[in-house]
Amino acid sequence: MEEERKGAIDIDDVGVTFAARGEIVEAVSNVDMHVKPGEFVSIIGPSGCGKSTLLNIVAGFVKPTSGSALFDGAPIRGPGSDRGVVFQQYSLFPWLSVRKNVEFGLKMKGTPASQRETQARTLLGLAGLLAFENHYPDQLSGGMKQRVGIVRALATSPQVLLMDEPFGALDAQTRAVMQEILTNMWQQFRISVLFVTHDIEESIFLSDRIYVMTARPGRIKAEITVPLPRPRTPEMTYTPAFIGLVQQLKALIREESLAAMGSELKEGGLSGFGIEVGPRGVEEVV
Ligand code: ADP
Ligand code: MG
Repeated sequence: MEEERKGAIDIDDVGVTFAARGEIVEAVSNVDMHVKPGEFVSIIGPSGCGKSTLLNIVAGFVKPTSGSALFDGAPIRGPGSDRGVVFQQYSLFPWLSVRKNVEFGLKMKGTPASQRETQARTLLGLAGLLAFENHYPDQLSGGMKQRVGIVRALATSPQVLLMDEPFGALDAQTRAVMQEILTNMWQQFRISVLFVTHDIEESIFLSDRIYVMTARPGRIKAEITVPLPRPRTPEMTYTPAFIGLVQQLKALIREESLAAMGSELKEGGLSGFGIEVGPRGVEEVV
């Protein structure tokens, strides 16, 4: 019998409010979000709309104020090795070698040393990093550090990878290569991925489905299915299907970014920037 696939996320009617310095901040509200086993799902939305908050709920770092959050059918009570997390900051231990960084989660799980080493070396090999197993994080480029971060998150055989803007600190070329590496690894591992980004092209290139969020308090504004075939290739980004999705998402995000920047910046307000400057120059206007 084939093993039952895991990695299902069910967020139902979730709200989160934070109390910070006497003020109540409603971060997300009435969010329904579902990830099926093996699915690659992105969350996209303006800064501060609650993307990281949602990811942190699934990671077990944040408790919902209302609603329910289930992982493989069970309420999420805290972090666990069934969920691997990759942040934008590389968060590798600088005092550990690349291999020891990858072994860290396995050590926490009580995996014997010899088995840890074998598993870490296998994964590093898949990511093309075996030659660097004895290097320290300082000796690696940003892209390599983040590859180690992904390998480390995969080492404990999680059912889902939770990624919060993992390529946000990388230059555009490195980023594109990392996106390809990630889709390839995801196809091999067949686990679920929940991926937070504010990069529209990135979300389309990687995902089966995209949740678009409103400005804070974040709600689900739209859910977009990406009909592009697998494996994804860079050439696909030039197809009408891809470009059509970019336009659709841009329009949705633009509305929310404007809302996030304040009501004074409505469309009419923006056209006001086309100010004619008279002979006295800027002092006439300001
Ligand atoms: P995003 O990742 O979409 O940029 P976040 O989920 O980080 O947004 O934050 C959503 C809102 O909640 C923001 O207004 C942020 O300042 C606030 N927030 C997030 N975490 C905390 C916290 N621990 N305490 C207080 N406010 C928080
Ligand atoms: Mg964030």
